[in-house]
Amino acid sequence: MTDTALTDFYALEDLLTPEEVEIRDRVRNWCAKEVTPRINDYWEAAAFPFELVPGFAELGIAGGTIQGYGSPGMSCVAAGLVAAELARADGSIGTFNGVHSFLAMQSIALLGSEEQRERFLPPMARMEQIGAFGLTEPQHGSDAVALETSARRDGDAFVLDGQKKWIGNGTIADHVIVWARGEDGQVGGYVVEKGTPGFTARVMTGKTALRAVWQAEITLEGARVPVENRLENCRSFKDVSTILDRTRYTVAWRALGLATAAYELALEHSLHREQFGQPIAGYQLVQEKLARMLAEITTMQLMCWRLSTLADAGRMTAAMASLAKRHCCATARQIVADARDLFGGDGILLEHHIARHHADIEAIYTFEGTDHVQALIVGREITGLSAISGRRR
Ligand SMILES: Cc1cc2nc3c(=O)[nH]c(=O)nc-3n(C[C@H](O)[C@H](O)[C@H](O)COP(=O)(O)OP(=O)(O)OC[C@H]3O[C@@H](n4cnc5c(N)ncnc54)[C@H](O)[C@@H]3O)c2cc1C
Repeated sequence: MTDTALTDFYALEDLLTPEEVEIRDRVRNWCAKEVTPRINDYWEAAAFPFELVPGFAELGIAGGTIQGYGSPGMSCVAAGLVAAELARADGSIGTFNGVHSFLAMQSIALLGSEEQRERFLPPMARMEQIGAFGLTEPQHGSDAVALETSARRDGDAFVLDGQKKWIGNGTIADHVIVWARGEDGQVGGYVVEKGTPGFTARVMTGKTALRAVWQAEITLEGARVPVENRLENCRSFKDVSTILDRTRYTVAWRALGLATAAYELALEHSLHREQFGQPIAGYQLVQEKLARMLAEITTMQLMCWRLSTLADAGRMTAAMASLAKRHCCATARQIVADARDLFGGDGILLEHHIARHHADIEAIYTFEGTDHVQALIVGREITGLSAISGRRR
């Protein structure tokens, strides 16, 4: 059996176009050469691997599904495969791309005016400029809909005041999309450019997951944002939700990528680690774990592929994306834990890679909507009753 067949048990590759296979392999090869050999050192030092950014830019994947403005305009299936490959190498790199290409660039592509798209997107597609997405606040995570950051019109600018927390790329970004409540009570998106007086960002320290990508705590104190930087087509929080839905399916693929890496590492280790005179892969209990992992990975592959084809056809709903995010993150979490177990003590040593994946899946399980929140979105869809805030929709 080939290496690919070990994790593509149902020959999903047959369902992919040649372009999708090409882009997947382009990312896979770059990750194997550039990311895997050096990422543990960055993770341990909690350092962002700036040296990888030029090579990442050359992959030509920034902006993912965005058509034009220098972005590749790939299919949602291709975007999913790319997300899985990056995460299979490293969750931090996958998160960096998720924030830049999906949360930040898509906000501009979907909610910006033509002038804003032309101004911001091309340098972001070339990765000469990096994006961030500032939604979560210290007091508002799952209930980000209640965000308190304010935007007040003053002449030719909006004045922003408030705080943000957990903002990926927030300290290094050239453009941070800050979501703030306007004087009409509606949430709008404001592109805050690097160096804006009144904007300060501090790297969050002491993280036990995704240590090779930085999140920021941001303070906005009278930060003046030119009127032309307010995303012109953002009318309310519903528009922000649309961006989250369109990123969420890639998070499901990212969980699949991490689970795949964990399974591959566990299989390899089990075949080589001998105890009681034979490889541990020869024991029934170990084979049961490996078989269960493969079954779960296969179901995730089919779910993610189908969800992306629905997204490509314009048929993906918010609840469909939530179902996949929830299922894949919860399943991956179990697979990575089982894989770590099969490494014994080596499973907590960074050099074997599994320890990093084991830590990283915890953050992916939580961000872009927790397990509970995804369940509540699906629950609202199937019952017609919203249990999110205890109120009916
Ligand atoms: C590594 C990382 C990167 C991130 N990157 C970004 C980013 O780039 N930009 C950004 O804006 N945000 C980002 N976030 C924030 C992320 O989206 C939030 O952490 C997430 O939405 C959860 O919010 P919270 O941490 O405040 O948890 P809380 O909302 O406080 O949740 C705590 C617990 O309460 C539960 N809970 C909450 N409400 C309900 C309810 N109604 N019913 C049942 N249970 C409920 C949750 O499920 C969870 O179990 C990031 C977070 C992390 C960890």
